[in-house]
Amino acid sequence: RVKHDGRGRACFFDAEMDEAARNRRQIESDLRHAITRNQLNVSYQPILNAQSGEITGYEALMRWHRPGHGMTEPDVFIPIAEESGSIVQLGEWILQQACMEAARWPQPLTIAVNVSPVQFMLPNLCERVEAVLAETGLAPDRLELEITEAALIRDRDRVMATLQRLYKLGVHIVMDDFGTGFSSLSNLRSFPFDKIKVDRSFTGVLEHDAAARSIVRAIIGLGHSLGMPVVTEGVETEMQRQIVVEEGCAQVQGLLLGKPDIEPSMKQAARKSFLSGQAGTGMQPPRR
Ligand code: C2E
Ligand code: MG
Ligand code: MG
Ligand code: MG
Repeated sequence: RVKHDGRGRACFFDAEMDEAARNRRQIESDLRHAITRNQLNVSYQPILNAQSGEITGYEALMRWHRPGHGMTEPDVFIPIAEESGSIVQLGEWILQQACMEAARWPQPLTIAVNVSPVQFMLPNLCERVEAVLAETGLAPDRLELEITEAALIRDRDRVMATLQRLYKLGVHIVMDDFGTGFSSLSNLRSFPFDKIKVDRSFTGVLEHDAAARSIVRAIIGLGHSLGMPVVTEGVETEMQRQIVVEEGCAQVQGLLLGKPDIEPSMKQAARKSFLSGQAGTGMQPPRR
């Protein structure tokens, strides 16, 4: 297949697109075996109380060791899994794994699991969550389901019904990546989320971008007045941590405070960081 744009570049782009499509199809088919071939892992990243520095829980993040390609990033394979439908199996798998793991942790520690918009449209999502809680013995209020605004743009009534049922189940619902994509303040009006997570794209520029800081301040203020505590993700520097604490954010998460790890653990960096700031004590890594 040969095309010309008059400058001899079209062929090159066509070949590149074929290559990309091939890669995609290969990832799609490799993904279908990822679970049975034991290529998936769960990484746990700590979430801390912004005032005390105490770990309040962990977010479960999927890791795929794809043979011949090493570690494949969620940002690469999750969108493909969502399109091909395999996110349903992957999502169930990580929910099960993460709840099983968290059930062994000391009581108050929570586990946050990302739920794709595709999973959110499944008619049996609530039953599956309920079943996993029953199987693993994890108390519902220790499970946080993180959804993005993309989950809310489909069939509105159905989405609200699902949220209500999960809410009645006693699990917590977190609005993830808030401030990007299809953000709408009315999303916060129509449902009482337990928590709002400020997208890390704001955090990364807080130090030199006054507008970003204003937006974060506004989100935190909005959260406060609606009774939804705000978490800031992607905290990488001490300065960023100080800024969001000053702005009244309830919880923090980011590389400064602890990176995602197969073995959830508290890093020294976080301890130092809090001790040099305010009173930070009582951080305890989970019992294994
Ligand atoms: P997310 O839910 O917003 O998760 C936070 C992401 O930020 C994670 O990327 C985490 O590793 C990364 N991160 C943590 N601290 C920092 C930091 O200080 N700086 C920066 N720049 N990044 C930081 P990861 O693990 O690559 O996952 C990316 C996205 O993929 C997640 O964003 C989530 O949307 C999706 N994802 C990951 N695991 C799952 C899953 O099990 N199910 C679903 N549906 N989506 C998942
Ligand atoms: Mg998340
Ligand atoms: Mg996020
Ligand atoms: Mg995300």
